This record gives sequence, C-alpha cells and structure tokens, in this order.
Amino acid sequence: MILITGGAGYIGSHCVVEFAKNGLDVVIFDNLSTGHSKIVENIQSKYKNVIFQKGDLKNKSDIDLVFKQYKIDTAIHFAAYSQVAQSVIEPGMYYENNVLGTLNLLNSMVENNVLKIVFSSTAAVYGEPKYTPIDENHPKNPINPYGKTKLMIENIMNDYDKAYNLKSIRLRYFNVIGANYLENIGEWHDVETHLVPNILKSAMKSDLVFKIFGTDYPTSDGTCVRDYVDVEDLARAHKLAFEYLNRENKTNVFNLGTQNGSSVKEIYNKTVEVLGQEIPLEYVEKRQGDPAILLADATKAKTMLNWRIENTLQKSIKNAYEWEKILKNFN
Ligand code: UDP
Repeated sequence: MILITGGAGYIGSHCVVEFAKNGLDVVIFDNLSTGHSKIVENIQSKYKNVIFQKGDLKNKSDIDLVFKQYKIDTAIHFAAYSQVAQSVIEPGMYYENNVLGTLNLLNSMVENNVLKIVFSSTAAVYGEPKYTPIDENHPKNPINPYGKTKLMIENIMNDYDKAYNLKSIRLRYFNVIGANYLENIGEWHDVETHLVPNILKSAMKSDLVFKIFGTDYPTSDGTCVRDYVDVEDLARAHKLAFEYLNRENKTNVFNLGTQNGSSVKEIYNKTVEVLGQEIPLEYVEKRQGDPAILLADATKAKTMLNWRIENTLQKSIKNAYEWEKILKNFN
C-alpha cells in the first residue's frame, strides 16, 4: 500500500487519484487542517482502493498507528503548510508542522522499515534566481520560512539516506494550476492567494475585482513571469518518481515545470479568452517577496523520468474554471 500524507489537499488529492486509478491501494493520512473531507468523500465514492486515516504528523503516535495497521511500502509526502506570506508572520507554526511533522514521519518509517519516500518540495528552495531557467544545481538560498522548511527537510532526508538507507525523491514544483474536475477535485484554499483561482473568482463574481500585483518588473509587459504546470501532469510525475524509486532505489531530485514562462498579464488575457468574458481588473502595488521571473529547467525529469507535459495552459485554465463552478456549490 502507498501512504499519501496530505492527500486531502490540492496536489495530494490529484496524486491519490493518479495512483488509485492505476490500481494501487492508497491510505490518505491528513489532519484536515487545510485539506477537505469533501475531497476525500469525492475520491472514495469512486475509488474503493482508497482508505482515509485522520491524523496529525505532529503526533508521532498517529502516524505510528498507520504503519502498524497497514502494510505500507512507500510514502508520498505532501502534508505541510504552504503559504509563503503566512510563513513570514508565523514561522514557528511552519517549522513545527513541516519540519517536526516530517521528522516524525521519517522516524516512524525507519522504525517500520519503510525506506522509500517521494517528497513534495518547491522552487522556493532556490530563493532569488541567479539565472533562469533554474536547474537542480542552482544555489539554494530560500528567502522565506516556507522555503527554508522544505530545504531543511531535503537535508534531513540526505542524512537519513546515509544513516538508514532511506531513499527519497524530492520534486521541486514551480507554479501549479488546473484541476481534475471530472473527479470532483481541485484547488480549495479557505483564503485564496493564488493567481488562477483569483482570476476565476473575479470572473464569477462581478463585484470582485482581480488585482495584478506590480507593473514595473523587468519583463516584457512589466508583470511577473512564472512557470505554470498542470496539476494532473504533476500527479503523473509523482507516479513516475515512485516507479523510478522502485526501479533504481536511489535518492534524487527533480524540478517540475514546463520551462515556458507566462506573465501575470498573459494568464489574465488567456483566462478572458478561455471564458469568453470580461473580468474586472485593477493594477496595484507589488506584493512583497515576488521575484520577477521564475522558470524551471525540467530537462532532468523529462530525460530520467520520461515525464511529458500533456495539458496546455488553455486546458488547465478551462479545467480550473469547471472546478470553480463545482466548488461554488460546496461553499
Ligand atoms: N498574482 C497577482 N494577483 C493575485 C495573485 C497573484 O498578480 O491575485 C501574481 C503574483 O504577484 C505572482 C503570480 O501572480 O507574480 C503568481 O502568484 P501565486 O500566488 O499564484 O504563486 P507564487 O508565484 O507566489 O507561488
């Protein structure tokens, strides 16, 4: 069986479906602090090979119980807090939840002789880019507590490999968008800060003006450039990483992005085009801590994992829109 921590969250839930639909048995472990029981229900209504175990990684006994109860051979680890701005305001919460939580998971894994993990890391480990596109060897200087927790965990994993032979694949994501709305799952944050859902929410509510943060970045149209990767493509990368781990039994790290940059303005324009409607727009001050350009060099994932991007930007936006319409009925 595969343990998926944070499987009730955005990226985790897409991964659960990816594994379950390929016939693999999954145990979701989630404390539902940011994940949603409704997402778990939606998945379980279709996939009978998915079990849900509520628990918190901060309590080691919760995760110990999972390893005692089920025969787990690999962990896919998503459970973490992931809001950059919040991590600056409440760093302790991030170090405790992300670092301590992962330490409990890793210790429990070692005690139960489960020695393979795929870890949800982030481009935030690189910090301010020294060059673009960013490859895996780019210097790692995270500029916020969120990125620092993820880098600390990667370093802990290196030590656990040396000491206990625990093999890890770290997947460093760039900007994730899209939804698998046909499975009734998608992005659902109680306070939404991300670009695509914010544009869509403004499209669906006429009094909610979408705001572009900053117009004088050194980019072609003055707005920030990011590398937007589809969540279903990302989920497939986890399956490929899992297979790589089973095949090679080696620790490794891969960037996940498309290497195609889109500016905020371009994403806005594309959304207007996909929806075929005007969306109220306002230009406002820069948001603190946003680098001008973040672009992945994902050559390694493409060559070593044989990862291919299938969903276009247009498709991801369309899928995210269909999901927003479903989500509106849940709230
Ligand atoms: N952004 C924006 N308006 C919003 C949300 C985001 O202009 O309502 C911009 C943000 O400044 C950044 C880009 O969109 O340049 C992507 O932001 P997001 O929060 O989605 O991801 P991040 O790059 O912070 O991980």
